[in-house]
Amino acid sequence: MAVRVDHAVVSGTFSLDGETFDVDNNIWVVGDDESCLVIDAPHDVDAILAVVGGRAVKAIVCTHAHDDHVRVAPELRERTGAPVLLHPDDRPLWELTHPDHLWDADLADGQSLTIGGASVSVLHTPGHAPGAVCLYVHDLGCVFTGDTLFQGGPGATGRSFSDADLIVESIRRQLFALPDATVVHTGHGDDTTLGEERETLGG
Ligand SMILES: [Zn+2]
Repeated sequence: MAVRVDHAVVSGTFSLDGETFDVDNNIWVVGDDESCLVIDAPHDVDAILAVVGGRAVKAIVCTHAHDDHVRVAPELRERTGAPVLLHPDDRPLWELTHPDHLWDADLADGQSLTIGGASVSVLHTPGHAPGAVCLYVHDLGCVFTGDTLFQGGPGATGRSFSDADLIVESIRRQLFALPDATVVHTGHGDDTTLGEERETLGG
């Protein structure tokens, strides 16, 4: 399997509920030498395109619509011609950042995207955001969790549109159904594995 994961970190801000924070976001690109998917579009379109490295971008897949994950999605769409994909339950969050235009196509639980012969499964994991999704790549033994699961536990649920009970239920039902050895590529910070996080969270 020639499919691989490429990565960079970009800095910017996250704003919600009238507060703004400095944040570092992971950029994840999964694909082969010809084509790729970009997972989230934080802060800096040139930094994302540097990771893409001239490959054809097939889609810009948003794990959720907090502004630090979708800020440059429309610009990246313009530069690559790739559609922006988002779960429709995150519309209220998307509209806070991009009130004038929507994304291009909806993500749905159980949907399968294909890149370079690998299958990417969409898992709807509401809690951090109503339309949060994780993206599982069986062939690579990894899952991209956005802000749903970090090294050390679930993502934040203290702000609008979040639900603390729901995020734990989503993690248990959708993520802990996957193998313990699955590598977790998060929206912020270091990788972990599902086994480690299962031990931390219990379940
Ligand atoms: Zn978030």
